[in-house]
Amino acid sequence: MHCPFCRHSDSRVIDSRTADDGMSIRRRRQCPECGRRFTTTETASLTVIKRSGVVEPFSREKVVSGVRKACQGRPVTDADLAVLAQRVEESVRSAGIAQFEANEIGLAILPHLRELDEVAFLRFASVYQAFDSLADFESAISDLRSNASSPSASSAPIKE
Ligand SMILES: [Zn+2]
Repeated sequence: MHCPFCRHSDSRVIDSRTADDGMSIRRRRQCPECGRRFTTTETASLTVIKRSGVVEPFSREKVVSGVRKACQGRPVTDADLAVLAQRVEESVRSAGIAQFEANEIGLAILPHLRELDEVAFLRFASVYQAFDSLADFESAISDLRSNASSPSASSAPIKE
Protein backbone atom coordinates (compact mmCIF):
# COMPACT_ATOMS: atom_id res chain seq x y z
CA MET A 1 0.00 0.00 0.00
CA HIS A 2 1.60 3.26 -1.16
CA CYS A 3 1.72 6.17 1.24
CA PRO A 4 -0.73 8.79 -0.13
CA PHE A 5 1.48 11.62 1.15
CA CYS A 6 5.00 10.75 0.06
CA ARG A 7 4.29 7.76 -2.24
CA HIS A 8 6.58 5.53 -0.22
CA SER A 9 5.99 2.00 -1.43
CA ASP A 10 5.29 0.42 1.94
CA SER A 11 3.20 1.02 5.04
CA ARG A 12 2.65 -0.59 8.40
CA VAL A 13 -0.77 -1.65 9.67
CA ILE A 14 -1.26 -0.27 13.17
CA ASP A 15 -4.94 -1.12 13.66
CA SER A 16 -7.61 -3.19 11.86
CA ARG A 17 -11.30 -3.29 12.48
CA THR A 18 -14.29 -4.71 10.69
CA ALA A 19 -16.84 -2.12 9.61
CA ASP A 20 -20.32 -2.29 11.14
CA ASP A 21 -21.83 -3.86 8.03
CA GLY A 22 -19.26 -6.66 8.20
CA MET A 23 -18.47 -6.18 4.51
CA SER A 24 -15.26 -4.26 4.84
CA ILE A 25 -12.19 -3.92 6.98
CA ARG A 26 -10.71 -0.56 7.87
CA ARG A 27 -7.00 -0.50 8.47
CA ARG A 28 -5.09 2.31 10.08
CA ARG A 29 -1.65 2.48 8.54
CA GLN A 30 1.51 4.40 9.16
CA CYS A 31 4.16 5.26 6.63
CA PRO A 32 7.63 4.29 7.85
CA GLU A 33 9.14 6.99 5.64
CA CYS A 34 7.24 10.17 6.56
CA GLY A 35 5.46 8.88 9.66
CA ARG A 36 2.02 10.09 8.58
CA ARG A 37 -1.04 7.96 9.18
CA PHE A 38 -3.87 7.08 6.85
CA THR A 39 -6.83 4.71 6.70
CA THR A 40 -7.60 2.17 4.04
CA THR A 41 -10.80 0.23 3.56
CA GLU A 42 -10.86 -3.24 2.12
CA THR A 43 -14.22 -4.32 0.79
CA ALA A 44 -15.80 -7.68 0.00
CA SER A 45 -13.25 -9.96 -1.48
CA LEU A 46 -12.76 -10.28 -5.18
CA THR A 47 -10.55 -13.19 -6.06
CA VAL A 48 -8.59 -14.22 -9.08
CA ILE A 49 -7.81 -17.78 -10.13
CA LYS A 50 -4.42 -17.92 -11.75
CA ARG A 51 -3.59 -20.30 -14.57
CA SER A 52 -1.69 -22.40 -12.04
CA GLY A 53 -4.94 -22.85 -10.08
CA VAL A 54 -3.79 -20.61 -7.22
CA VAL A 55 -6.52 -18.30 -5.92
CA GLU A 56 -5.46 -14.86 -4.75
CA PRO A 57 -7.21 -11.60 -3.92
CA PHE A 58 -7.72 -9.13 -6.75
CA SER A 59 -5.07 -6.46 -6.51
CA ARG A 60 -4.85 -3.13 -8.30
CA GLU A 61 -1.10 -3.28 -7.88
CA LYS A 62 -1.04 -6.50 -9.91
CA VAL A 63 -3.06 -4.82 -12.65
CA VAL A 64 -0.53 -1.98 -12.70
CA SER A 65 2.46 -4.30 -12.75
CA GLY A 66 0.76 -6.35 -15.46
CA VAL A 67 0.38 -3.41 -17.81
CA ARG A 68 3.51 -1.49 -16.86
CA LYS A 69 5.69 -3.50 -19.22
CA ALA A 70 3.35 -2.83 -22.15
CA CYS A 71 3.58 0.89 -21.33
CA GLN A 72 7.38 1.03 -21.41
CA GLY A 73 8.59 4.05 -23.33
CA ARG A 74 5.03 5.35 -23.71
CA PRO A 75 3.72 8.65 -22.31
CA VAL A 76 1.85 6.90 -19.49
CA THR A 77 2.34 8.05 -15.91
CA ASP A 78 1.98 6.17 -12.64
CA ALA A 79 -1.13 8.24 -11.99
CA ASP A 80 -2.60 7.08 -15.32
CA LEU A 81 -1.91 3.48 -14.33
CA ALA A 82 -3.54 3.99 -10.93
CA VAL A 83 -6.69 5.34 -12.61
CA LEU A 84 -6.65 2.44 -15.06
CA ALA A 85 -6.41 -0.09 -12.23
CA GLN A 86 -9.28 1.61 -10.43
CA ARG A 87 -11.45 1.47 -13.56
CA VAL A 88 -10.60 -2.17 -14.09
CA GLU A 89 -11.58 -2.95 -10.51
CA GLU A 90 -14.86 -1.03 -10.91
CA SER A 91 -15.67 -2.87 -14.11
CA VAL A 92 -14.99 -6.33 -12.69
CA ARG A 93 -16.90 -5.52 -9.49
CA SER A 94 -19.85 -4.28 -11.50
CA ALA A 95 -20.10 -7.74 -13.06
CA GLY A 96 -21.30 -8.91 -9.63
CA ILE A 97 -19.12 -12.01 -9.64
CA ALA A 98 -16.74 -12.70 -6.76
CA GLN A 99 -14.23 -14.83 -8.60
CA PHE A 100 -12.53 -14.32 -11.93
CA GLU A 101 -9.93 -16.10 -13.98
CA ALA A 102 -6.70 -14.18 -14.50
CA ASN A 103 -7.42 -14.16 -18.20
CA GLU A 104 -10.76 -12.41 -17.65
CA ILE A 105 -9.01 -9.68 -15.68
CA GLY A 106 -6.66 -9.30 -18.65
CA LEU A 107 -9.64 -8.90 -20.96
CA ALA A 108 -11.21 -6.36 -18.58
CA ILE A 109 -8.01 -4.34 -18.77
CA LEU A 110 -8.05 -4.10 -22.57
CA PRO A 111 -10.73 -1.43 -23.19
CA HIS A 112 -9.28 0.81 -20.48
CA LEU A 113 -5.73 0.44 -21.74
CA ARG A 114 -6.94 1.17 -25.24
CA GLU A 115 -8.33 4.50 -24.06
CA LEU A 116 -5.04 5.28 -22.36
CA ASP A 117 -2.50 4.39 -25.02
CA GLU A 118 -3.03 2.52 -28.28
CA VAL A 119 0.50 1.20 -28.59
CA ALA A 120 0.46 -0.16 -25.03
CA PHE A 121 -2.95 -1.64 -25.81
CA LEU A 122 -1.61 -3.49 -28.86
CA ARG A 123 1.34 -4.85 -26.91
CA PHE A 124 -0.90 -6.02 -24.09
CA ALA A 125 -3.60 -7.38 -26.40
CA SER A 126 -1.02 -9.42 -28.28
CA VAL A 127 -0.41 -11.36 -25.07
CA TYR A 128 -3.96 -11.58 -23.72
CA GLN A 129 -5.70 -12.31 -26.96
CA ALA A 130 -2.87 -14.66 -27.93
CA PHE A 131 -2.06 -12.98 -31.21
CA ASP A 132 -0.08 -15.48 -33.22
CA SER A 133 0.18 -13.86 -36.60
CA LEU A 134 0.60 -10.48 -38.25
CA ALA A 135 -3.00 -10.76 -39.37
CA ASP A 136 -4.12 -10.57 -35.73
CA PHE A 137 -2.17 -7.32 -35.31
CA GLU A 138 -3.55 -5.99 -38.58
CA SER A 139 -7.13 -6.61 -37.57
CA ALA A 140 -6.57 -5.06 -34.12
CA ILE A 141 -4.99 -2.01 -35.74
CA SER A 142 -7.78 -1.63 -38.26
CA ASP A 143 -10.27 -1.84 -35.38
CA LEU A 144 -8.39 0.98 -33.68
CA ARG A 145 -8.43 3.02 -36.90
CA SER A 146 -12.10 2.46 -37.57
CA ASN A 147 -12.98 3.51 -34.05
CA ALA A 148 -10.65 6.49 -34.00
CA SER A 149 -13.38 8.81 -35.28
CA SER A 150 -16.08 7.55 -32.94
CA PRO A 151 -15.11 7.64 -29.25
CA SER A 152 -17.75 5.07 -28.34
CA ALA A 153 -16.12 1.75 -29.16
CA SER A 154 -18.97 -0.17 -27.58
CA SER A 155 -21.35 0.92 -30.32
CA ALA A 156 -19.19 -0.70 -33.00
CA PRO A 157 -20.83 -3.68 -34.68
CA ILE A 158 -19.64 -7.05 -33.43
CA LYS A 159 -17.81 -9.02 -36.06
CA GLU A 160 -19.19 -12.44 -36.84
ZN1 LIG B 1 4.86 8.66 3.61
